Amino acid sequence: MMYPWQVEQWQQFTQYLSSQRLAHANLISGPAAIGKLEFCLAYMQRLNCTQPNKENTACGECNDCRLFSARTHPDVRMINVDEEVEQIKIDDIRELNKFMSLSRHIGTYKAVCINQADLMNINASNALLKTLEEPPANSIIFLVSHHAESLLATIKSRCQIWKFPLPSVKQALDWLQQQDRSVDWKSLLPGAGNRPLLAMELYETGLGEERLDYYRDIHQLMHCKEKVTKISAKLQNEELQKLVGWQQAWCADLIRCHYKKEPVTLENPDIRRSLHSLVGRVDLQSLYSFWDKLIELRRFSSAPLNKRLFIEDMLVRCQEILEQPV
Ligand SMILES: [Zn+2]
Repeated sequence: MMYPWQVEQWQQFTQYLSSQRLAHANLISGPAAIGKLEFCLAYMQRLNCTQPNKENTACGECNDCRLFSARTHPDVRMINVDEEVEQIKIDDIRELNKFMSLSRHIGTYKAVCINQADLMNINASNALLKTLEEPPANSIIFLVSHHAESLLATIKSRCQIWKFPLPSVKQALDWLQQQDRSVDWKSLLPGAGNRPLLAMELYETGLGEERLDYYRDIHQLMHCKEKVTKISAKLQNEELQKLVGWQQAWCADLIRCHYKKEPVTLENPDIRRSLHSLVGRVDLQSLYSFWDKLIELRRFSSAPLNKRLFIEDMLVRCQEILEQPV
């Protein structure tokens, strides 16, 4: 599926295709939750579609399209993160290299997509380099990433880099309103950092309100108007990974605010005022140690011994970033 804010990129990609200028390796980078993967999949389908329609998108009906939709097209591969280790492992890339070395079955192109490519571990990255250096004919690899800065420079230098920007607020709101007119998207979208797919997710899961509630508690905590124990009691039945994720986003935003008075990108632009109320009172060194602590907590969040203690530990560490701890 291609989104309305991707029309320009789509035209470029299809032009490259018709003039056979598309690179063997393409890095699709840009913020999360703006539909990069969906774009990539739509394009991979288009690559092998035998009867593209007049808008130059895949027909959805030919044999190749049907196989693609059923995820059984023999010339297409998708590599995802192994959720247990939160990495893309070397075995997956080895399998991909093998796939690339075989000849095509029915398609015009062999197409591979590596989603969240920045999560390839070092061995996987090195294994991929081989295929990037000697790409088989009529093969195209897509790397999709919202942390492209973490990819090896040697990988990036072998890719054509496509930067997908955030849609404009108007584009995002137009699309969201088309999905559901009854929702107050104008208040939800800023909380999703203007990322329309995230706004949709926040609405569908009801997490938008919960998230704001959490940040309200953190605000109170940091201004000594609420106690750690009271907040932990309230949150003890919540999913810890979610809480740590919110806390990480908060921490990253606070770091951004520390360096720049009006940072352009915030994960939580709707709590900007609350963040600014803390900037002058925070010790940067402690803020960074808190960031490291959160990475560690994230790792243990799936199996803590005691949920309430886990939350209290996180909140106490959060308070400790203040120059004069409470
Ligand atoms: Zn088709």
